[in-house]
Amino acid sequence: MREEKEIKCPYCGFKGKPKDFYLLYEAVVNVTLTSAVKEGRERPPLLVCPSCGKAFPSSNFYDKLRRKIAKR
Ligand SMILES: [Zn+2]
Repeated sequence: MREEKEIKCPYCGFKGKPKDFYLLYEAVVNVTLTSAVKEGRERPPLLVCPSCGKAFPSSNFYDKLRRKIAKR
């Protein structure tokens, strides 16, 4: 049995369990993620880092996003 996996904030490096982060839905945050959201038409919940207060997509989505960004 494994514990919940940790999520790492891409901005400040804070690590925590999913429940340590605040959950936020797309409407508030699409400023930072405009291109990704438009492109995929996905509306993943976003996590807000309790340490630096920035929002980023939940980890599965983040992996996808990173792949897209890496291609550019
Ligand atoms: Zn952070």
